Amino acid sequence: MTGGSRGIGRAISIEFARNGFFVGVNYLVDHEAAHSTLIEVKKYSDGMILKADVSKSSQVKKMFDEFGDVDVLINNAGIVMDSLILNMRDEDWLKVIDVNLNGSFYCLREAARRMKNGGSIVNISSIVGVRGSIGNANYAASKGGLIALTKSAAKELGRFNIKVNAVLPGFHLTRMALKAWGKYKDRIISEHTLGRLTDLSELAKFVYFIATQNSASGQVFNFESRVI
Ligand code: NAD
Repeated sequence: MTGGSRGIGRAISIEFARNGFFVGVNYLVDHEAAHSTLIEVKKYSDGMILKADVSKSSQVKKMFDEFGDVDVLINNAGIVMDSLILNMRDEDWLKVIDVNLNGSFYCLREAARRMKNGGSIVNISSIVGVRGSIGNANYAASKGGLIALTKSAAKELGRFNIKVNAVLPGFHLTRMALKAWGKYKDRIISEHTLGRLTDLSELAKFVYFIATQNSASGQVFNFESRVI
């Protein structure tokens, strides 16, 4: 579980634990938050915390070596560095692609190498990866790239019984989304077909279902309640 110390990653980690999985909770810097997720995980099952920057291929390899064989990978770690294209600095473009897309690739590759009896990979993408967005082209491109990676990996890895799918999670009021919430709250609610936010624990159950079903691969599952 990459980026498992808070937000969506924390909710998904706990859902897997509730279903008896041993959970590897990856984190970047916040040891305390990762430890707090692990305490929740241990109420139901067992797990470990794994410090690694997913955008660094060598750290990712070390993390997977520490974890051992893998059944499920949830590629969830992600960042935003928003600005309009005309103002976007090279480093803002590169950093977001590095974490969201390159990081997901490194983790997918290392996980697939360790899936001895098949497995399942879920890439947490975003609606903006499908429809684009104003003010975060770097993020939209990384999430669109993640969808292309999902489909390609599904085609390549299907013969090893490894399923690869993407989930568009919908808007959730996590630390990443706070700024957007402040700016676009009314629009977010009015575009939501049910006129409210989607529940984080419902999303975690959805991701768990997608990760553990045995038939679909190469698909993009939309948990958005905005109509695309
Ligand atoms: P968040 O900021 O709360 O969580 C992101 C997590 O990724 C954090 O734990 C952070 O430490 C981790 N992370 C960042 N860079 C990392 C790195 N280099 N190495 C390892 N971990 C790293 O945000 P969130 O909303 O929980 O986001 C989780 C995922 O869901 C992201 O991929 C995001 O793009 C996606 N998403 C979120 C929303 C939303 O509305 N919140 C909507 C669509 C997609």
